[in-house]
Amino acid sequence: MGVTRGLVILGSTGSIGQQALDVARACPDELRVVGLAAGQNLELLAAQVSEWSPAFVSAPPLLPGSSWHGARVVPLDEMCEIPDAERVLICTAGATGLRPTLAAIRAGKSVALANKEVLVMAGDLVMTEARRHGAALLPVDSEHSAVWQCLAGDCELGIGKVTGPVRRVLLTASGGAFRDLPFEELKSVTREQALAHPNWVMGPKVTIDSATLMNKGFEVIEAHWLFGLSYNQIDVVLHRESIVHALVEFIDGSYKAELGPPDMRLPVQHALTYPVRRAASWPRLNLEDVAHLSFAPLESRRYPCYELALAAAESGGSMSAVLSAADDVAVRFFLDGRIPFTGIAETVDRALQAHECNAQPTLEEIVEVDAQTRAFLEQSVGLTRHFY
Ligand code: MG
Repeated sequence: MGVTRGLVILGSTGSIGQQALDVARACPDELRVVGLAAGQNLELLAAQVSEWSPAFVSAPPLLPGSSWHGARVVPLDEMCEIPDAERVLICTAGATGLRPTLAAIRAGKSVALANKEVLVMAGDLVMTEARRHGAALLPVDSEHSAVWQCLAGDCELGIGKVTGPVRRVLLTASGGAFRDLPFEELKSVTREQALAHPNWVMGPKVTIDSATLMNKGFEVIEAHWLFGLSYNQIDVVLHRESIVHALVEFIDGSYKAELGPPDMRLPVQHALTYPVRRAASWPRLNLEDVAHLSFAPLESRRYPCYELALAAAESGGSMSAVLSAADDVAVRFFLDGRIPFTGIAETVDRALQAHECNAQPTLEEIVEVDAQTRAFLEQSVGLTRHFY
């Protein structure tokens, strides 16, 4: 048995945060929760603090320096510097994760990263800091966890750099809630239809991003930064069953794939207990029941958000920070009933078109671009270019 690892969870009341606590509950000898941070869900956070008795807690409504349910309240960034914490799980939503991720890296923590927007907004900056401080970034997303597991054994896994005989990686995509819907009907789908993912249980933002496939675009960008692969080494394949999470093709023509049930607790546990692969009691995959695994090319005309993400990724610099902020706003507009489903791509496109790319933005410039994009879109709902 190893030493108990101090764990901080930023975003503990969200979907990944709650599943991470399921993992911690199942691994009492390996993981000890020393800090919990959340947004506005104080009721659930209070229940979590009572169960886990972390020394530190953080949430915007709580006053730093005070005591709350027996835990000391600290600002979010300070949570990343707790001496007792070895690993910080970042599963906050949207742009909120960026500064804490940098704080954890600078404090020399290993960072289990579930917040996609961090690398989409500022991949270059985050990876540069991680290399400088020797801080490992451990992927939590199922596809990246799968790539990571497939690369192990054949490649040297540096921080943001993989050295080895890799030809390309393939991320799988379920195709989201509307993969079979007649094209003309996408315009009139409802919020409830968009929130019903065929395979995975996730938070609302990422579920809508899965329906538009913006999520997969983000994941391509993340894979580029996490593994130091060029964009032409990263492909996406439609795989309806969500059993194969990613594949790696090697230079000799051989493939490795990682398979498992679509259950986020698996990749979360892998990231939290790494380098130990620990037994788990979650429902297991029965291959005989699956019987059939299908792979098909993506019908990219159906997914303009995916195409916009790839274009922004190729432009580089500040463009993907615009992508991230614009998508956040567009998904909120859709969930609030202000735009139709097809308006998400149109809204993101409008922001990208209006932006003048900065090739090497600083953290302050990225934060500024994020704020400007949000303000621009709030003022300009209406003018659109039509993809459908
Ligand atoms: Mg994923």
